[in-house]
Formats: sequence, C-alpha cells, structure tokens
Amino acid sequence: MREVLPPVKAIAGMCGRQTVKPECNRLSHHCLRVEVDEGELWYHTMTGSLVLLSHDEVSAGGDAHDELVARWYLVPEDYDEHKLAQQVRQTSKLLVRTKPHITSFVIFTTTDCNARCFYCYEQGRPRRTMTDEVAHDVAAYIARKCGGNDVRINWFGGEPLVNYRAIDLIVADLAALGIGVTSQMTTNGYLFTKELVQRACDTWHLNSVQVTLDGTEDTYNKTKAYVNAVGSPYKRVLDNIDLLADAGMKVNLRLNMSTHNEQDLWQLSDKLAERFSKKQKVRVYVAPLRDFTSNTSAYGANEDLLAAHSKLQGHVDELGISTQSELKSALSVNRCMADSDQSLTILPDGRLGKCEHESEERLVGSIYQDELDQEVIKAWKQTIRVPECQTCLFYPLCVRLTWCPWCAEGCTKATRDVMRQNLSRMVRNAYQS
Ligand code: SF4
Ligand code: SF4
Repeated sequence: MREVLPPVKAIAGMCGRQTVKPECNRLSHHCLRVEVDEGELWYHTMTGSLVLLSHDEVSAGGDAHDELVARWYLVPEDYDEHKLAQQVRQTSKLLVRTKPHITSFVIFTTTDCNARCFYCYEQGRPRRTMTDEVAHDVAAYIARKCGGNDVRINWFGGEPLVNYRAIDLIVADLAALGIGVTSQMTTNGYLFTKELVQRACDTWHLNSVQVTLDGTEDTYNKTKAYVNAVGSPYKRVLDNIDLLADAGMKVNLRLNMSTHNEQDLWQLSDKLAERFSKKQKVRVYVAPLRDFTSNTSAYGANEDLLAAHSKLQGHVDELGISTQSELKSALSVNRCMADSDQSLTILPDGRLGKCEHESEERLVGSIYQDELDQEVIKAWKQTIRVPECQTCLFYPLCVRLTWCPWCAEGCTKATRDVMRQNLSRMVRNAYQS
C-alpha cells in the first residue's frame, strides 16, 4: 500500500488511528474506490487520506489490512461512522475562529445586462443600476465592516461591465481609505477592451474572471442575443479572453450545457483546446444548466443530460484544458458565502444579501442600517438532510443549504451520481499530480 495523501492533521488529531481488531472488515461508507492502471485508489472523505492499493492488495487484503483499519477504511460491521463524522464536524466548528469582520463581498454593479440568454435567472427581475451616490456609500460601508483588513470583491450582475463606473468609484474610495482590494468578476466578457483590461489589472486588482460560453460561433451568438452587438460577439469574446490571459488573469471558461447545445459543445471544446491549450491561465469546465426559469431541462431530473455532462467533462479533461478542482483537504464546516459570517452580497440599491443568485428575496439588510436580520442569516445556514445521509459517502464533505437554488431538488440519486463522478475525477487528478 502506498500513501498518496496523508490524513488531514486536524482531523487525525480528533479521531486518531482506529485500534486494529479482527472484526474490522466492513468497508467504510466514507471510502471512495477509484480504479487506476496500478490498482485502486482509496479516498476517505472524512480523514482526507488517499492511498494506492495494488491489484493483489485489493483482492487479498493481506499486509495492508491493519493499516486500512488504522486509517478508518475498514470498520466493524455495526460501527456508526455517521456519528463519528458528526462529532468531528461539531468539534471542527468550535475550532474555527470566528472573525468579527466582513471581508468578502459580491457587488452587483447592475442587474441589467447586454445579453439576453433564454436561461437567465435574472429574467423577470427589475433591472437596477448602481448610482454614483450608492457606489460611494458602498465603499464607506465596506470600510466600516472590514476592520481595516484587505477585502475580496466579486463583481457580479447582470453584467458588471455595463456599469464599470461603479467599480472605478468603489475601488478609488477604498484605495483612498487605505483598504487593500483583490477582485474577481463573473462576466460575459463582451464589453472588455484593451484599455479596460489594463485598468482592471492596474486599479481594480482583478486577478480572476469567469466567462460563460454556450457554443461555437452560431450557437453562441444566437444564445447570447446581445443587444446592439457589432460584428460577431463570439469572435470578440474569444479575443478578449486572450487579452485577459495575456494580462496575467486567470480565466475560467464555463461551458453551459443543456439539451440544445450538447453536441455543439464538443466542437467548441476542440476549438478552445486548439486556441488556448498553451495558455495555462485559461481553463475550461462544463456545467449543466439549472432550471431557474422553467425554460431549460431541470438539473437532477434529467439523467441523460447528467450522463452527457460527464462524457463531455471527460473529453475536456483529455484535451488537457480543464479546471483542476482540488480535492477537499478537510471535513467541510460551511458551504459558501451564504452560510459564512464573513461574506455579503451588495445589490445596486444598497440592499444586502447572502447568495449571489438571490437579488430580490431572502435579503438580510441594507448598507444604510448597521444591523443585519439575524433570523434570515440563520435560515441561510440550514442544511438539507435526508435518510440517505446516514450511510452516504459524501456526508463528511456535504453541506447542502436548504435555500441554495442549486439544491432546489433536495438530494436525489442523480445528484449523488454526479458528485461521485466529480470526486472520482478529483481523486485521479490528485494521484496524477
Ligand atoms: S444531503 Fe445527499 S449528498 Fe449530502 S450527505 Fe445527505 S445524502 Fe449525501
Ligand atoms: S447559489 Fe448556492 S452555492 Fe452559490 S452562493 Fe447561493 S447558496 Fe451558495
């Protein structure tokens, strides 16, 4: 048996090594087995331990048995691992030092957009754009809440570049107040120009950009349906991706997949590999579209789409252009900004929220009041639990928030199948790197 990744120290400190007993013969519910040419990789989702077993060790056990028991891969038949994972999670939560300041913000410079994607979750919501006055007030609010610490901002929308003046004003005010900023942006990329990319580097401190692509030229241009587009938006966006990467920014290309563009995305991936494979800053991942609008196929209910997603992601991996998601190195105690006390979203009119996909409901306050609505904050932290959690491989890693729009279907077998495919991919990547 060969160790690929040791158990995470903090977790190992809490649960120690299991005492070896002859009755420890059942495979832990928290062990994922992934076949590779040399044998099998065994990943433990609670401890983070990853080991490689040879083909002989997999079939006969032999010398590896005692070490597999000590590392919690093998447990007694009636052992309650769910309870152990719950205890470890509770202890981990107590050990996480809560910081009193808010240092991570998602800022909607506008909810307006220059594209008209048929699947947009902002459809039907009012289009609001941040005024200069609110932008100055946003900077003042951040300064009051960050306790003098550096802040991380994700510029979001709508399309954040429709109102890049708000970005200019906020970063200028924060710089004047001596507050360090790093930022990222979720954008369609169309409105970038050479000058704006330079400004993004120099003054916005933008170091990472996520751009969504829906297909090759014809499909992309039809899907995005840009307002007042000049020439081919597809060509312009690809040129802008070059500009961003050449300026040193990380560019994550998200291929939005549904039944309408599934085949076309295979061609797009090949084209992206041809153009960007030598640019390490540009990486690609595939995401099935979620049914926020009832216009698209529902995620989790369409098994064919999930299978197609897995195949295409495999193809992107083979092309050597995929985003390498890292194996989580510890048991999860929170999910995202929505259940973190250090994060807030700021809407164009100064209202405050917890989730970047929620711009109208479940909000928690305003930059013009000091108190946040603690009841709503508490509700954002509630997690989905189903009977299957008791023996689920993912329990130590899983924090599914009841209000998260991505988890609207609760937890289904299809959801877990996708999680298994993703985790297997991360385990293989960790082994190969
Ligand atoms: S919510 Fe679903 S994925 Fe998460 S632990 Fe429970 S059964 Fe597993
Ligand atoms: S969509 Fe879900 S994962 Fe994303 S911020 Fe909202 S609650 Fe978190």
